[in-house]
Amino acid sequence: MDCLFCRIVRGEIPSTKVYEDDDLYAFRDIDPKAPTHILLVPKVHHSSVNALDESSAAVVAKAYVVLKQLAEAEGIAQSGYRIVVNTGKDGGQSVDHLHFHLLGGRSLSWPPG
Ligand code: 5GP
Ligand code: ZN
Repeated sequence: MDCLFCRIVRGEIPSTKVYEDDDLYAFRDIDPKAPTHILLVPKVHHSSVNALDESSAAVVAKAYVVLKQLAEAEGIAQSGYRIVVNTGKDGGQSVDHLHFHLLGGRSLSWPPG
């Protein structure tokens, strides 16, 4: 599969790994938008939220628990952070492999542009 994030998960493209288990892989965004900017991806390829169904519910639920743990490890759990899942063209998705952005370490504006 020629998917960028599948290749990162397989180690074919280098990344700064911050977490890995049987189901999930997390690494630092190459172009960080905040002091903490981590991408968490399911190892199984899902193109976006639109591709999810009941069979993928467990890994999505687990992802949120891992995201909370990553926020704690980054020291931003108390100050606050944002979890973002861009979906489709209007949602700003540029890589078609489901990924959760974990952003924090500064005050984040709302709403996004
Ligand atoms: P999206 O725009 O799809 O929501 O997010 C894709 C993210 O992947 C962007 O924040 C972008 O900076 C990041 N990204 C794109 N290519 C690479 C890469 O090769 N390595 C890493 N670590 N991040 C990447
Ligand atoms: Zn993929």
